[in-house]
Formats: sequence, C-alpha cells, structure tokens
Amino acid sequence: MDFSTPEPVQAIARRVREFIDAEVVPLEPFYGEHIDGIRPDRLEAVRARAKAAGLWGPQLPKDLGGLGLSLQEIVPVFEEAGRSLIGPAALHCSAPDEGNMHLLHMFANPEQVERYLRPLAAGQIRSGFAMTEPPPGAGSDPNMLLTRAVRDGDDWIIDGHKWFTSGADGAAFLIIMARTNPDVPTHKGATIFLAPIETPGIEIVRRVPIMGGDDLGGHCEIRFNNLRLPHSAILGEEGQGFALTQKRLGPARLTHCMRWTGLAQRALEIATQYANEREAFGSKLSGHQSIQWMLADSATELHAGRLMIHQCAWLLAQGSDARQESSMCKVFVAESVNRVLDRAIQICGAKGISRDLPLSRWYEAIRAFRIYDGASEVHRMVIARQVVKKYGST
Ligand SMILES: Cc1cc2nc3c(=O)[nH]c(=O)nc-3n(C[C@H](O)[C@H](O)[C@H](O)COP(=O)(O)OP(=O)(O)OC[C@H]3O[C@@H](n4cnc5c(N)ncnc54)[C@H](O)[C@@H]3O)c2cc1C
Repeated sequence: MDFSTPEPVQAIARRVREFIDAEVVPLEPFYGEHIDGIRPDRLEAVRARAKAAGLWGPQLPKDLGGLGLSLQEIVPVFEEAGRSLIGPAALHCSAPDEGNMHLLHMFANPEQVERYLRPLAAGQIRSGFAMTEPPPGAGSDPNMLLTRAVRDGDDWIIDGHKWFTSGADGAAFLIIMARTNPDVPTHKGATIFLAPIETPGIEIVRRVPIMGGDDLGGHCEIRFNNLRLPHSAILGEEGQGFALTQKRLGPARLTHCMRWTGLAQRALEIATQYANEREAFGSKLSGHQSIQWMLADSATELHAGRLMIHQCAWLLAQGSDARQESSMCKVFVAESVNRVLDRAIQICGAKGISRDLPLSRWYEAIRAFRIYDGASEVHRMVIARQVVKKYGST
C-alpha cells in the first residue's frame, strides 16, 4: 500500500486550501443569516468563483464538468474543502448531492442522466435522498421500511412518510426508497424511484429543526400521498433499491470522513494557536502538560483517521466492498472528530464556547455525524458480527 499523494493531486489540494482561505472563510461570519445557512446569492457567487478557478466538482467525471479525481485522489482534496462548513457546497462536493450524483452516475439510464444528473452536476438544481422514516418506519433497520409502492398498470403509486431528507426544501427531485414487494426482505423487495419534486402527491411537511442550525434545503419531513410515478421513474431495476443504496453509502461514508477531518484539523489549529498565545499560571497554555496531551491526542486521532480513510479508499479501488473497514473507519472518524472538537473548545475556554470562534457552531454540526450514514452502534454491530464469526469458535 502506497498512500503518498501524487504531485498533481497535491497541487489541486493546495489550490483548494488557498481557495477556501481566500474565498470561503471570509463568508463564515454570514453563516446562519439565511435559513439555508448562507444566503443563496452569496453561495452562487462563490460557486461561480470555484468554477472559474477550475475547482468545481473534484469528484465528478470530466464529461460532467468536474476534475475527474478518483476516490483515493479526492481524500486530501475533500479534506481541504471541509476546512469550512461552507467549503464543500462551494466546490459542489457536499452531502447529499455528492452521494446522489455518485449513485446516478453509476445507475441512471441515458434519459435519467440528461434529466437529472447533468443539471445536478452543473449545480443548476439540487436533490434529496429519502430513505429514513420516522418511527415506526425504517431508521437504523432498513427492514422496517413502510413506504409502499404498488403497481398500477404502467405506473406505481407510492404512499409513505419520510423524514430527515436532507436538502429536500428547494430540491428539484427526490430519490425515494420504497417497498415494492412486501413478501420478501427489504434487501430484495425495495426499489428506488426518481421523482420531480413538483409531482402531485409529494408534500413537504416541514424542515425538522436541528441542533447547530439549518443546512442548505433543511432536513425535511415528507409525506407521499398517492404519488403516481411512471415505471420509467425507477433507478436501476425493480427490487434492487437496497443493493444500489449500499453502493452509494460505502463511498459516501468515506467522503463524510474526509470533509469532517478537514474541519477537525482546523479546530486543532485554532486551539493550538490559542494555547500558544494565552498565558495562565506563569506560562503559555501550550507549556502545560495536560494541554499538550490534548493537542497530542487530537493530532494522533486525526492521523489515525486519515490512514483509515486512505486504506478504505484503496480497498474500494481494488474492488473490495470494504464492508468491515468502512464501518471501522466511520465509527472511528465520527467519534474522534467529535473528541477533537470537544478538546479544542476546552482548550479555548470561554472563547471556545462563544460565537467569536467558529468552534461552537462546528461542535453542534459535527455531532450528527455519529448518527447519520449508520449510527456508531449499528456499525459496531456489523464489525462485531465479523469478529464473532472469525474468532468466536475454538
Ligand atoms: C443531520 C442528519 C441528516 C440526515 N440526512 C438523511 C438523508 O438525507 N436521507 C435519509 O434517508 N436519512 C437521513 N438521515 C437519517 C439517518 O440516516 C438516521 O438518523 C440513521 O439511519 C439512524 O436512524 P434513526 O434516527 O431512525 O435512529 P433509530 O433507528 O431510532 O436508532 C436510535 C438509536 O438506537 C441505536 N440502535 C439502533 N439499533 C441498535 C442496535 N441493534 N444495537 C444498539 N443500538 C442500536 C442507534 O445507533 C441510535 O443511536 C439524517 C440524519 C441526520 C441527523
């Protein structure tokens, strides 16, 4: 395994770093001024600058207007983009559109590519991925999927209740997971549908208010009431929904890890600068051992997380599904970046809690990472199953 970054990719990562510092960080004081986080005209302007700088869509194929980088190559690039909460949206590599584009690129037919993927890749429209349901429906356990799609001639009629569909408010279309065959388990009986948001029967009930403030398009509660879609709205094949979703979630988990590593790295830098300037009990804070240990633990965990991301990206590139490793990576990075943020706030004292620094906002935002794309407990369950299988019998 060689995890060194090729020089051309290092150059892109450096340019992304410069772009984030010059064009994106200055927008941070405005974060929260609009329900979408940043005002749409400001986002449009910075996206235009990202395009002009040749940094649009690092992960997107060149024929879709991106830089055409592989999963391994985007590791350092996404980390640099993630140094600001606004960075990934500015470069068009933020969730949920980034994962949705990946899914469509793998499975959309030519008509779906033209209708959905091309305008999405160009940043002209946004999308939402509607899988999670409020209790008693599917959350951690996909087998509890209650949203039903029933065949009616050439059409399908969908009824169901979703929530936490990120980005749905203002999205042009939804990717909907529904059960098409109730007689078999979800992994064989669920199907993905693509639906323009204005289709009668789609009701955006509300943007669910969340800690850390709202994001682009919110995290929406949605009802499907007698939603009629043609058979051609299916992505891939009937009954393949769960298999397709696994293809989306594996890499999407890793890209989340890359972006959050960038934010946690910046938190470490902010905390280190504060510790190097602030004095207490006769020395700089950075001279006190307990502070040094916090800095050391954060640097070590960031380093370990990066190595796990790199190794997992490498495994996926070899054709492995990296099931075990991607779960390990998700658990470790989600929990360690939370710890890094927590330590950074502790080191900065009251200033860390204040909104004078961005740390408290990031701390609120990063908490959800331990829950979405598979909560830590569920990934541990997956890991433990393999451990027991491998070592459980004498
Ligand atoms: C900010 C944010 C954005 C999101 N965006 C999207 C999106 O765009 N599209 C989408 O479809 N979903 C989205 N989600 C939903 C997310 O995928 C779910 O929250 C996640 O799958 C967990 O489901 P749940 O919330 O229903 O938790 P539940 O299933 O109710 O679980 C609650 C808790 O119990 C734990 N638990 C569950 N099973 C076990 C077990 N066997 N052993 C021990 N503990 C267990 C879980 O780990 C969790 O901590 C988003 C969530 C958040 C917070």
